[in-house]
Amino acid sequence: MICPRCDSNTAEKLVDAPADKSWEVYICKTCWFSWRSTEDEAISNPALYDKKFKLDPSAIDKLLAIPPIPPLKKTP
Ligand SMILES: [Zn+2]
Repeated sequence: MICPRCDSNTAEKLVDAPADKSWEVYICKTCWFSWRSTEDEAISNPALYDKKFKLDPSAIDKLLAIPPIPPLKKTP
């Protein structure tokens, strides 16, 4: 399955709706984008996903890291 955000062919079903399987959640193993089967086509369809939110898989390694947590302050 093609990921709407990064266009990698690494997306797969993650889970079904527990009660009645009325929806499914998919996840991309490249960019970790996830979406539900009931999302609008603008979210679930790679061709209709907003290009300004697309992610190039080769850029993922160059994305900024989450800032480290500074040392805890010592209590007086
Ligand atoms: Zn992706």
